[in-house]
Amino acid sequence: MTSLSSTVVTRFAPSPTGYLHIGGARTALFNWLYAKGHGGKFLIRIEDTDRERSTDEAVKAIFDGLDWLNLHADEEPVYQFSRADRHREVVQQLLDTGHAYRDYLSAEETGALRDQAKAEGKDFVSPWRDREPTDAEAGNPFTVRFRRPLGQSVIVDDAVQGTVRWESSALDDLVILRSDGAPTYNLAVVVDDHDMGVTHVIRGDDHLNNAARQGLIYDALGWTRPTFAHIPLIHGPDGAKLSKRHGAQAVHEYAEMGYLPEAMRNYLARLGWAHGDDELFDDEQAKTWFDFGGINKAPARLDFDKLAHVNAHWIRQADDQRLADLTTGVLASRGQTLDAAAREKLLRVIPLIKDRAKMVPELADQAQFALLVNPIALNEKSRGLLQGENLDRLSRLREFLTEIQGWSVENLEASLKLFAEKEGVGFGKIGPFARAALTGGVPAPDIAKILVAIGRDESLQRLDDALQQTK
Ligand code: GLU
Repeated sequence: MTSLSSTVVTRFAPSPTGYLHIGGARTALFNWLYAKGHGGKFLIRIEDTDRERSTDEAVKAIFDGLDWLNLHADEEPVYQFSRADRHREVVQQLLDTGHAYRDYLSAEETGALRDQAKAEGKDFVSPWRDREPTDAEAGNPFTVRFRRPLGQSVIVDDAVQGTVRWESSALDDLVILRSDGAPTYNLAVVVDDHDMGVTHVIRGDDHLNNAARQGLIYDALGWTRPTFAHIPLIHGPDGAKLSKRHGAQAVHEYAEMGYLPEAMRNYLARLGWAHGDDELFDDEQAKTWFDFGGINKAPARLDFDKLAHVNAHWIRQADDQRLADLTTGVLASRGQTLDAAAREKLLRVIPLIKDRAKMVPELADQAQFALLVNPIALNEKSRGLLQGENLDRLSRLREFLTEIQGWSVENLEASLKLFAEKEGVGFGKIGPFARAALTGGVPAPDIAKILVAIGRDESLQRLDDALQQTK
């Protein structure tokens, strides 16, 4: 790890919680966009100091979410817990330079003194700030506290929030090393960000107060502070803080619901950041456009309609084979497995239905008509349509279709129009019974698309079957 670099280095530093939260995903994306837009590096640090929560599965869940979103780090991930010795080394450095001190108060004594200070309307200051232990005391357990400068303003120039000010006395002498020798969060973050050469810290504004504390630690160590950019959190559609009742919070749930990762990236980039009125854009545009000036200071609201709209756009753009594979996965999860012929059919259907689907499972629903096993069952409504003169027309349509050269949507649309003309009726009289015979009444696109999707042979077969069944 180097700290000398003029290029932009950003990082995403999640604490494993069991899944990648959508807010975390957006933080990762902003960091990734900013780094990539500036020819810099995007790094990942797993903040795994909470040993109970940081299980292998919890860490894997983070990477799975990031992989799905296609947000990859430019270097091997850093694991915070493994760097504890380095953190302790820096604590020692702060002790040596007088920026930190050993505090021999027990937790109970600290609590009592804190209560007393509060009752007197004062800020708590440990008596050990200005005291050396006697030889007898020196062997006792201690914590290490950062010696904050008193009586001055602490200023953070935030790229999103502007200049933010705190009174140093209100910040407490932060514990930077616990009595069991474990370094604490704010100290570890500063040391890691510094050692990783991080130039820009982009994260949720719930960390803004930490920036004040971290800024002081940077100053004490004589290290250059990174640029801080604290982004407003994501709220639910009703404006309240995002919670389970608003719906999915984990990235993998969005994957399971049938959103495409590029749609999520597009939507998440727009969530709290804007480039004019642009709603639909790709990664390259986002990388070029992303800047701190476009970040909104007010919390962003999750809008599922907008997300669906963005997803529909990216489904239209997506490769057919990829969509067919995703749809096959959805069908498999519903217990429907496809043989090679069905897979081939699915691939033929996808381009004919993808312009109307907002989510991948809709593709699975809308493709069903093509995957039916012949002879297909006719629902009641379809049977109702396949009677009387419609049946005569159906058999004439069957014959007419055998003559058609070039089995394409365009050709078939024109030919069906011609057939209606020949019959002396509007197409509205043909479509419903033809659809009934070809699909049995399940959801399907326009007739010409149905014919192309199932192919000439099967189309004729279904018409024959319908004529047979309704005789
Ligand atoms: N580990 C912290 C979190 O998951 C983020 C720390 C940071 O970005 O500085 O909220």
